[in-house]
Amino acid sequence: MDGKFQDNDITRIVEADRAHVWHHLTQHKPFETGEPRIITEGKGMKVWDQKGVEHLDAVSGGVWTVNVGYGRESIADAVREQLVKLNYFAGAAGSIPGALFAEKLIEKMPGMTRVYYTNSGSEANEKAWKMIRQIAHKRYGGQKHKILYRERDYHGTTIAALSAGGQEERNAQYGPFAPGFVEVPHCLEYRKQWDVEDYGRRAADAIEEVILREGPETVGGLCLEPITAGGGVIVPPEGYWERVQEICRKYDILLHIDEVVCGIGRTGTWFGYQHYGIEPDFVTMAKGVASGYAAIACCVTTEKVFDLFKDDSSDPMNYFRDISTFGGCTAGPAAALENMRIIEDEGLLENCEKMGARLMANLRALQEKHAVIGDVRGKGLFCGAELVADRETKEPADEKLCARVVAECAAERVIIGVTNRSIPGFNNTLTFSPALIATEADIDRITEAVDVALTRVFG
Ligand code: PMP
Repeated sequence: MDGKFQDNDITRIVEADRAHVWHHLTQHKPFETGEPRIITEGKGMKVWDQKGVEHLDAVSGGVWTVNVGYGRESIADAVREQLVKLNYFAGAAGSIPGALFAEKLIEKMPGMTRVYYTNSGSEANEKAWKMIRQIAHKRYGGQKHKILYRERDYHGTTIAALSAGGQEERNAQYGPFAPGFVEVPHCLEYRKQWDVEDYGRRAADAIEEVILREGPETVGGLCLEPITAGGGVIVPPEGYWERVQEICRKYDILLHIDEVVCGIGRTGTWFGYQHYGIEPDFVTMAKGVASGYAAIACCVTTEKVFDLFKDDSSDPMNYFRDISTFGGCTAGPAAALENMRIIEDEGLLENCEKMGARLMANLRALQEKHAVIGDVRGKGLFCGAELVADRETKEPADEKLCARVVAECAAERVIIGVTNRSIPGFNNTLTFSPALIATEADIDRITEAVDVALTRVFG
């Protein structure tokens, strides 16, 4: 790559980083002796660090974000063009890219009609919950205000979003939480909670049990990831979603699908929920919407919901009295529009499906070879391999050993992820989410690195 930093610059940058930057998700003690990793450049599937070392990025920027790959000049051009024309105006007004992207997005989402712009996944989710709460106040005297979320799902970083967070280790430090959020059981069949044939239906029935326990007249919304991401790449079993939809209709509960990870192609369809033929009331999205080229998130809903907020009065109960300052940035929709064009013109949904099948097949082959792989799960380019100390008991592999597998992959110049627990305290699912442009050679290189790493760590 051109334009590498001079040695002096690197030293200065590392020192500035070490002195002043508080990294996300990071225990900083090791930085006192070690060196932080600084990613300096990216192109296609590759990134370079401060030492000029090239890595294949198998996690799209670490957290399932850079769906169309790095270094897309056409997105940069679209953003630049928009920024010099108009960078910002508060979202009470419309914008040209905002209108055009909303139109394009809605084309991909039959049944949905309205896009509310905001700037992070957490906020997009909170918009949906605020709308659900306002509907509860407007139509049900405030009673139907509870929002159900699922064990192992994650919906964001704010205190309210953590109140709907199903991963104990990410929450425990931050209570007390907002009231009115109620957990339902996870649906991971590999870690069965019910010994039945029809597991998907049974896991969904568990949601109904919670609704009946709480009182259906108090439950306004159900928020679920289509495929749980950070909680361990959990693909709901067959029959689950049909039953969930049935339950929501039966009790008049608004269904909110959190597509922050799965949205915009990650699983081979535009949205994860589209694999299951369900009809949500709210769909939220963020990461892949502009592949990280600009910050943008959306809360999308139906005309039926939108109509509930429409009348002639200016009573705050009758319209959505909400704003997100940076929901008015125009760089987001400008980047998102070009991001979507790339996905369409380059056939990336088809590529995602094809390469995803290869990734799953390669991981299954590794499972044959390495007893430590207990389960392989995923859809499209969104896969996980759960590591266990014992296949019979399914005792999770030691968290430190899992972290070592990631480090050994990095030594092979392949960046993979490891995510949450099978039981509290364990991070034992390796995650793979390469950009949708991945080639067969990229996929094979990723799984070859995992093969080497597993052999080194577990023999
Ligand atoms: N929902 C899901 C499913 C997520 O994975 C995340 C982020 N990892 C969020 C919401 C929150 O998004 P953000 O970090 O943009 O607030």
